[in-house]
Amino acid sequence: ATPMSIMVSVGRAAQMGVLVKNGEALQTASKVDTVVLDKTGTVTLGKPDVTEIEVLTHDEELDQNHLMQAIGSLEQHSEHPLASAMVAKAKALSLVMQEPESFDNYQGRGITGKLNGNSWAIGNTKLMTEQGVSGLSQVDELLEGWAAQGKTPVYIARNGVLVGVIAISDPIKPDAAQAIARLKANGIKVVMLTGDNEKTAKAVAAQVGIEDVVANVLPDEKQAEVLRLKAEGRIVAMVGDGINDAPALVSADVGIAMGSGTEVAIESADFTLLSHQLTTLGDALALSRATMGNIK
Ligand code: ADP
Ligand code: MG
Repeated sequence: ATPMSIMVSVGRAAQMGVLVKNGEALQTASKVDTVVLDKTGTVTLGKPDVTEIEVLTHDEELDQNHLMQAIGSLEQHSEHPLASAMVAKAKALSLVMQEPESFDNYQGRGITGKLNGNSWAIGNTKLMTEQGVSGLSQVDELLEGWAAQGKTPVYIARNGVLVGVIAISDPIKPDAAQAIARLKANGIKVVMLTGDNEKTAKAVAAQVGIEDVVANVLPDEKQAEVLRLKAEGRIVAMVGDGINDAPALVSADVGIAMGSGTEVAIESADFTLLSHQLTTLGDALALSRATMGNIK
């Protein structure tokens, strides 16, 4: 394509809600045969909500409110979207947050901290295993049910003992299934990539028509998966919104950020989708094909 035709297409893209930062990527986009989608905030709305709270201890002092107060007090120091949902829930229950004595963040796993002399760990299976928390299997059945509904389970341990589990739900974008069907109709392989657990990820993927799911991935593993697909000879577009998507966005042939996403993701991407709708993704790829097809 000529520089002129690319300039025209960049303008057209802007009109359809796609900000093109890198004109060269517009040419590459016409050849994309694989689209990798982050789950949270890309396939889902990124507006998670705590929907279930289960207290597991027989300690009468630790009721639902005390549990949510501890969770909120610790999670207020995390910037993860799941943390925001937990803090919002604690606030909605009119609970007063306390200042923890210590706090540590574990990328892709959760958090730990000390509150009133107790050690807390809040996060996924990986974190619980690392922290030596046992007895996770007592909630297997409950968590299977939640995961089947696409909900993300979070374990809560106090002083090494599992004391609670909560479910966090993030609604799927209304246009996600349609957007993915369009990609597939164009012969594009669609892969979902997420730090979330496999069962939850598969339930969400099934609802939007994605068969290929790579779950339980840490941020550097997201990048590794993109590089692996490229090494197979695929031309890969990666779509994401989080800090943890940034390395994968940089490594993809075409990095696409959600406009609702973090600044780091937007800076790392070639395109930004201004609306949170996923259908603009198909529009952008179609535009790039038209650009390259018209003027050779
Ligand atoms: P993604 O954004 O793809 O879901 P992340 O790497 O951000 O992946 O998170 C992966 C998982 O780590 C989450 O699904 C959750 O189980 C756990 N996690 C991350 N941060 C927190 C947190 N602040 N509190 C509890 N769990 C967390
Ligand atoms: Mg995300």
